[in-house]
Amino acid sequence: MKDLSACATRSTCPYCGVGCGVLLQPDGAGGLTVTGDPDHPANQGRLCSKGSALAETVGLSQRLLAPLVAGKETGWDHALQLVADRFRETIAEHGPDSVAFYVSGQLLTEDYYVANKLMKGFIGSANIDTNSRLCMASTVAGHKRAFGTDTVPGTYEDLDEADLVVLVGSNLAWCHPVLYQRLMAARQARGTKIIVVDPRRTASCDSADLHLPLAAGSDVALFNHLLSQIDTAGLVDVDSLTHTTGIHEALDSALADDVSVTRLNPDDIAQFCQMWMGTEKVVTIFSQGVNQSSSGSDKVNAILNCHLATGRIGKPGCGPLSVTGQPNAMGGREVGGLANMLACHLDIENADHRAAVRDFWSAPAMPEAPGLKAVDLFRAVGDGRVKALWVIHTNPVVSMPEADAVRDAIAACPFTVVSDITARTDTARLADVLLPAAAWAEKDGTVTNSDRTISRQRSVLPAPGQARADWDILAEVGRRMGWVSAFDYQTPGEIFREYATLSGIAAKFGRDFDISGLSDLDAVGYDALQPTRWPVTATRQGGRFFADGQFYHPDGKARLLPVTWRAPAAKTEPRYPFWLNTGRLRDQWHTMTRTGMSARLSAHLPEPFLDIHPDDAHVTGINPADLVQVASPHGTSILRARITSDVTQGQVFAPIHWTGETAPSARIDAVVAAATDPVSGQPESKASVVNVTRFNAEWYGFAVSDREMQPSCEYWAKTPTKTGYRAELAGMGTINDWQTTARDLFGLPEAQTTIVEDPARGMARLAFHEHGQLVAALFISPEPVAVMRDYLATLPQVPDLLSGRAPADRPDPGPVLCSCFDVGVNTILTAIETKGLMSVEAIGEALQAGTNCGSCRPELASLLASAHQKEAAQ
Ligand code: SF4
Repeated sequence: MKDLSACATRSTCPYCGVGCGVLLQPDGAGGLTVTGDPDHPANQGRLCSKGSALAETVGLSQRLLAPLVAGKETGWDHALQLVADRFRETIAEHGPDSVAFYVSGQLLTEDYYVANKLMKGFIGSANIDTNSRLCMASTVAGHKRAFGTDTVPGTYEDLDEADLVVLVGSNLAWCHPVLYQRLMAARQARGTKIIVVDPRRTASCDSADLHLPLAAGSDVALFNHLLSQIDTAGLVDVDSLTHTTGIHEALDSALADDVSVTRLNPDDIAQFCQMWMGTEKVVTIFSQGVNQSSSGSDKVNAILNCHLATGRIGKPGCGPLSVTGQPNAMGGREVGGLANMLACHLDIENADHRAAVRDFWSAPAMPEAPGLKAVDLFRAVGDGRVKALWVIHTNPVVSMPEADAVRDAIAACPFTVVSDITARTDTARLADVLLPAAAWAEKDGTVTNSDRTISRQRSVLPAPGQARADWDILAEVGRRMGWVSAFDYQTPGEIFREYATLSGIAAKFGRDFDISGLSDLDAVGYDALQPTRWPVTATRQGGRFFADGQFYHPDGKARLLPVTWRAPAAKTEPRYPFWLNTGRLRDQWHTMTRTGMSARLSAHLPEPFLDIHPDDAHVTGINPADLVQVASPHGTSILRARITSDVTQGQVFAPIHWTGETAPSARIDAVVAAATDPVSGQPESKASVVNVTRFNAEWYGFAVSDREMQPSCEYWAKTPTKTGYRAELAGMGTINDWQTTARDLFGLPEAQTTIVEDPARGMARLAFHEHGQLVAALFISPEPVAVMRDYLATLPQVPDLLSGRAPADRPDPGPVLCSCFDVGVNTILTAIETKGLMSVEAIGEALQAGTNCGSCRPELASLLASAHQKEAAQ
């Protein structure tokens, strides 16, 4: 491969909180080459499947290129004056708390800083919250309670030195794949043991020494049991205790808890405790499975208690390490993006902190209390308390719990502004004013990853049309609202310097977040800034927190918190007998506005699904490939059933990514209850209660086309392919004229049609040709359609296409498993069988699968194991 490092621009991947460095080289035609940066400490050149496909997501086909007011194109002057006027009028009439910003972990720190300054310092409300509330607010609360501030003590290097890594509520293999590959490398080198604590069997379990499939929400009971065992074994570290308070109260709570609520095998619990207590260097990685819970903050503190009690913190190779979902969730935490924080880890409820920030900003108004957290914020939109809302780079109509209610609230809001890179989101479609924002490769600024490393994101492509940077849009609204000098920014570097200076003031209050050593960076220095772990002061750079036993409570000590297991907020009952767990897929990101543009990524799992245990499927009469309706008191969702023992009995799992744009009846957050953690306000996205029934469609369809389709039936899910689009369809009612229906679906009024129909059996197969070329095909059946989808998705120009089967000389590759080399499941299974492949490495040698980013290696291992099991059983 060509060495790009000398001529490429160094930037950062915009997806997950690993914060991988990338090398970007524009091709001169609007495209990019993207490779991993070998010099970035987070990834050392590695990229996962999503990062590797970044170049496929920079096209302009779905971009918003000009401001829209009431759906009509306009100029910036009109749009921004309207935004400034409506916010000013609303505040004048109803007070500052009648307006709100809902922002995103996709924002750069500089964007976040300006948004936060505008809302908290000048509008005078704290009603700014970020979608990071859905991601890691419980960790922030847990850290603050234990350490006195939101410090992440661990670093990625700790994974290289740990002897035991416990993944709690973290499918690291899919959600933070480069970190997982780093863990795999350490395991190979030093035999690191791995325990996965997760109700679901995930790809991360494939390499685990122990998997604990605990009952939903029972993590506190498990870690309380561990703490009590630590005490019983005399392993509480007396030296460490001199730097903490609360051990006795924490132990009392731990001893009172009952580990049987985890419903784990007692031998497995004992093994977990033995492995944890018997290993000095333990890293506990935790993520959404811990945070997204009505007891998320307590789960975090239950984990921290064990590390604090044993001194397994502040030392190389051990400590708790929360991994964030978004690229700049950490930056948002640092800069005050949450409604209950000021910038630089200062507290909004502390009068001295408020006064310091107010004086620094010369702010006319500072709120004295926290603002509305995400769930409450949208409730306030819904009941009319918030009358002007600005949503920036996020899609709450899809991603918030009780999403239908959020949709209705935004639709009824008197004035909604949305800034985004595309108009094609469920939320953007409800905007009164839609502002075209610059996208990832067009933006300049900084992000902070999960181990406190600040990296530059650098612009390499010109912003198309009228698109502008978010900090620039926000600052101009601030100026138009009357605060000219406070928002007179010309560059993101200026904003960063102001932020770094403010952090020096925060440090005088004893705060941990101090990057004042960067406050003198000139434009050249800012441009050249290398990945830098904070703190950065005149005397200190990076390093490890808590090694000296100093914490950030007023007495300098850490707190062990007495926490007690609480059941999830909802309870299963005969009407809603299943626990619904939601989560991410390997190759998709959030609501697919970027990854959904890549045919390669979309080929991995092209349809929304529900995982259900075989026994539950049997009882509910659900067969493989059936459509199922998932219902809760808040909404419904229709998904394809996958019957699998990866989920335990009584639990179902659905991915979060599908939207009104891609599968409107499969928005799973319409079903999720908006129960929240009482401390962090984070919603419980992993333990709603639902009913699952077969969706008895009267017909099912599979469609392929060289152009985008416009389905209008009860269920559809469409996804891009290399040659166009594919779609799954299902509907109610009898359709007598499939030809007209298909012409409308494909937008092909004139194309030549071939039809094979059996009306008595409800079967129809149609092919459409233009200029002798196949351009679309539709397969209809009264049962889920049985055709070779991945073969048909290539729009093969063959005469017997309507058979739906691949000819012997052109086998169906099956669903893509290795996105990097486009290798399908069937291809891999055939190679395992015919070539006698016995290892993931052998598959790589034969087919290249798994030899680039490595994200698919756990699935390759699982496929290999099941193929060999099947063979042994024959
Ligand atoms: S692990 Fe993947 S998605 Fe996350 S930052 Fe790295 S390349 Fe991007």
